[in-house]
Amino acid sequence: MTVIANDTPPSAGGPAAPPQPPSTPPPVPERTVLDDAREQLADAAAVLGLPGDVHAMLAEPRREVSVSIPLRRDDGTIEVLRGYRVQHNYSRGPGKGGVRFDARVDLDEVRALAMWMTWKCALLDVPYGGAKGGVRLDPRRYSTGELERITRRYTSEIAPLIGPHQDIPAPDIGTDEQTMAWMMDTYSVGQGHTVLGVVTGKPIAIGGSLGRAASTSRGVVAIAVEALRHLDIEPTSATAAVQGFGKVGRGAARLLAEQGVRVIAVSDMYGAIFNIGGLDLPALEAHVDATGSVVGFPEALEIDGTDVLLAEVDLLVPAAVEGVINADNACFVRARLIVEGANGPLTADADRILAERGVVVVPDILANAGGVVVSYFEWVQANQAYWWTEDEVNERLVDRMTRAWRDVLDYAAERQLSLRLAATCMAVERVYRAHEVRGLYP
Ligand code: NAD
Repeated sequence: MTVIANDTPPSAGGPAAPPQPPSTPPPVPERTVLDDAREQLADAAAVLGLPGDVHAMLAEPRREVSVSIPLRRDDGTIEVLRGYRVQHNYSRGPGKGGVRFDARVDLDEVRALAMWMTWKCALLDVPYGGAKGGVRLDPRRYSTGELERITRRYTSEIAPLIGPHQDIPAPDIGTDEQTMAWMMDTYSVGQGHTVLGVVTGKPIAIGGSLGRAASTSRGVVAIAVEALRHLDIEPTSATAAVQGFGKVGRGAARLLAEQGVRVIAVSDMYGAIFNIGGLDLPALEAHVDATGSVVGFPEALEIDGTDVLLAEVDLLVPAAVEGVINADNACFVRARLIVEGANGPLTADADRILAERGVVVVPDILANAGGVVVSYFEWVQANQAYWWTEDEVNERLVDRMTRAWRDVLDYAAERQLSLRLAATCMAVERVYRAHEVRGLYP
């Protein structure tokens, strides 16, 4: 019998030999954050009894664009970067979601983050769908001028897709209010007039909302306080660890300390610090402003970055990147409560392990929704051309967050679901209802 190699076509007329099994099995593709996001949707679809076609539709983004961003570097050379914008769903309103500048950005990550934005907006009942964007780069390698050119070119490439009624970007990892100002300006130049509503998280000077900068952190802390009390832990006798000391983690640590919580460990991408008596947050913030990192803060011990996640505390706030608590370390987590400041910091495996161990996890789509809530307030204020005080913004934010917390808690208790599954079910159901009444076109 002639053995035909797998890539050789069988000769005409002769019997086709069966394909030969490869000597070693092909490597199992690594699970991505998108696999986890889709698994969460599948779990919610099963609980809700969602029709299969609707589930299939919600598992896929409505639109996605991948763009090339040629950058003229300061030394005159040209480098080509890659950027994305994904719009997951807009049944309930225009797309809404941050823009990330990070070396790990890829299309699957942006797809997952866009899907979570759909659920977050629905859960907090803000009239948006979900979207997300990103550029694959390490911002530390670029000058301010280069970052401005990257932002402007990225904005002009995605301009046909965004707009105050289409899709409204905001800051995320590696971007800030200055990035939003460049985006707003670039988009406005293209339109021939100023379009304030094309982004949120803008500087106050161009229509940003008071309270927006700290809004995600304020929401995280409002939920953390509720959740601690739910576990019969008074915030003033609680300890906490925070991973990530950027826009979300830094504000969360400061506001936790203001609530009387003893923040004993924090980290950033350069390392971690620990002080059992509680870190002096104002002094730490001054140190970070001066040096760019928590590392080297004199009134603390330096510890391994990953040990922050394993600290013996009541409350853990992961506020950096995805997948940091996973099958490898979930069984070593000692916190009783995890409040997800970051998007997707727990893998699906970690979720299962922590649930078995009785650790309470408040999911990202609830815990870190404060940013999108105040983005919505920014949009409402701009539409009315009537600006609220910072106290008004903060009060309305905390009110919405605590109401959402109670709703999710009740939903979970009635149906015996985890908080993540309850929150996802509530959100998916709202998106489904909107889709149902709108109907399928054509
Ligand atoms: P940021 O860029 O301002 O800060 C990120 C921080 O994480 C930095 O301190 C960085 O040093 C640190 N970091 C990165 N990798 C790390 C690692 N492996 N270990 C420890 N620290 C690490 O970003 P951000 O806006 O604070 O976003 C953080 C997370 O919160 C992201 O998941 C983001 O999607 C989510 N989020 C942000 C907002 C917002 O309004 N900015 C809203 C909702 C959710």
